[in-house]
Amino acid sequence: MPASRVLPTEEAADLLKLVRDLATKELLPRAAQDEATETFPRDVFTLLGRSGLLGLPYSEEYGGGGQPYEVYLQVLEEIASVWSSVGVGVSVHALSCFGLVEHGTDEQKRAWLPDMLGGELLGAYCLSEAHAGSDPAAMKTTARRDGDSYVLNGAKAWTTHGGNADFYKVMARTPGDSGDRSRSISCFLIPADTAGFTADPPEKKMGLTGSSTTTMRLDDVRIPAERLLGNEGDGLKIALAGLDSGRLGIAAVATGLAQGALDQAVAYAKTRETFGKKIIDHQGLAFVLADMEAAIQSARAMVLHAARLKDRGLPFSREASIAKMVATDNAMKVTTDAVQVLGGYGYTRDFPVERYMREAKVMQIFEGTNQIQRMVISRALAKDNNGTIKESN
Ligand SMILES: Cc1cc2nc3c(=O)[nH]c(=O)nc-3n(C[C@H](O)[C@H](O)[C@H](O)COP(=O)(O)OP(=O)(O)OC[C@H]3O[C@@H](n4cnc5c(N)ncnc54)[C@H](O)[C@@H]3O)c2cc1C
Repeated sequence: MPASRVLPTEEAADLLKLVRDLATKELLPRAAQDEATETFPRDVFTLLGRSGLLGLPYSEEYGGGGQPYEVYLQVLEEIASVWSSVGVGVSVHALSCFGLVEHGTDEQKRAWLPDMLGGELLGAYCLSEAHAGSDPAAMKTTARRDGDSYVLNGAKAWTTHGGNADFYKVMARTPGDSGDRSRSISCFLIPADTAGFTADPPEKKMGLTGSSTTTMRLDDVRIPAERLLGNEGDGLKIALAGLDSGRLGIAAVATGLAQGALDQAVAYAKTRETFGKKIIDHQGLAFVLADMEAAIQSARAMVLHAARLKDRGLPFSREASIAKMVATDNAMKVTTDAVQVLGGYGYTRDFPVERYMREAKVMQIFEGTNQIQRMVISRALAKDNNGTIKESN
């Protein structure tokens, strides 16, 4: 049963219908096979780009779709309900464009954005390093100014689309405020074919096997100085601001993944019989399904609440963290329960729910683990409390 949606415009409703159709016809038939063979579906991203789905939340002026986040996230959800590797890929591509959209000069935007938002080029986002995931300010990759160029050295771990992307948004340490490690990081846009920039073999992962994840190595990578986004020292700020929106993308993907698992579980429960009746007619099992539905709807409501704050230009960082945490924890629970509903068959690769369960796990880990989301939320609470005390003084 597809999710019922309330959309802000008729145009948005038509867009969602188009996406649902494309997902069913073009993505669903090949998702299981590409995941099983660990094949990166580059042609799917080309198709999504040509259908206008890779730059949806960005301005039409530079080739984006001009859609509010409220609509973009529901598109992501529909894609992820049939193929979460592709949903994650669309979200990561949007994240990789964020720095240029928000901090690029007009000249930089004119030169690069149309191909990035139009979907000709696929992006990747390189913040993490092997020893610096939750704590990115500990990064060691360096960028040294040399005349009209920067020269980068180091290794960026866990790069989604690594080896398959056309451009990489890379955060690296530049000389700067030595007393503040977060103010000496800068943000660069590096084309894939730059000399010295190479991808290690992909990680062997538990799930999301159709999405490549690699370490990207930078050995004396020389790029023109105009590939710096924003000012020297702005890099971590740009990276983390992008993550607020990126987390909403992951929350939407997790919600779609959970919806896909629930749809499978309900369909199965309506046909499987034990003790002379369908298992959905056993209250003990029907209540499991009811809890799954409630978890998904709660997650969707939180995702859309955060999106609407963002669309209105209001602060949404805390709500993005809540949405990411709730949606991904709920997706883990829902996909685990979907395996339970299918009994022994759920544990086999003959049904997709075991894959959904493996895919849900990583949603609790990347773009800030759910422990880090709790840190963001609790820090916001601490600030609120200080504010309240001040007001009462
Ligand atoms: C499939 C996949 C794709 C990824 N794609 C990308 C990408 O495209 N670009 C990119 O830059 N990165 C990417 N990542 C990296 C991802 O963001 C990191 O793995 C994540 O931020 C966690 O970092 P870590 O693995 O180093 O774990 P660590 O930071 O070492 O954390 C280990 C554990 O300690 C906990 N922890 C750490 N600090 C605290 C604290 N202060 N309080 C409480 N608990 C804490 C964490 O929650 C976690 O449970 C990807 C990762 C995966 C698995």
